[in-house]
Amino acid sequence: MISTTTSLKINVVTIPEEGLNFAFSEDGAWFKECFKDGEIPDFFIGRADVNCLITKTSSTVFIRGKLSAIIDINCSRCLEETKLPVIADFTYTLVPEKAQTKEDFELKKEELEISHYHGDFIDLTPIICEQIILQIPIKALCSQECKGLCPQCGTNLNYSSCNCHLGCVDSRMAVLKNFKITN
Ligand SMILES: [Zn+2]
Ligand SMILES: [Zn+2]
Repeated sequence: MISTTTSLKINVVTIPEEGLNFAFSEDGAWFKECFKDGEIPDFFIGRADVNCLITKTSSTVFIRGKLSAIIDINCSRCLEETKLPVIADFTYTLVPEKAQTKEDFELKKEELEISHYHGDFIDLTPIICEQIILQIPIKALCSQECKGLCPQCGTNLNYSSCNCHLGCVDSRMAVLKNFKITN
């Protein structure tokens, strides 16, 4: 039976041989700790659920888990606020700050996230934050079919249409225009 913790601060010394299960399920404000005062991200992490197994081999700590979260972010096409679900598996390796890591990690260096911990405690908050942020696409969309805003009048084309496109025919349409059907 693997013991479970919900604490975001893990005492490395107390990680049992069989590992420690970490379960986290939170709404809202916890992630603000990841940002410095005055640093305002252009998204908000709503609900986050994280489940992972934390194991230790001598002083190296391995975290392997799954996360799912809901990101409040503005669609990059229509600029409307949208809820973006993200799901990911992640692995994370932490070594004590001054340890020599070269020989130990030559093998899978590129695949692994290797980070350091200080003293006896590992704070999971920035790790979870980072893993969630890594899942946010550079161009978040409210839907793959989002029509965006009219570049001329700014109308949200998902909700209404405008007349800006009338009169200006793009090149693809121009080809069709010459393709006259004779009847
Ligand atoms: Zn959109
Ligand atoms: Zn328009």
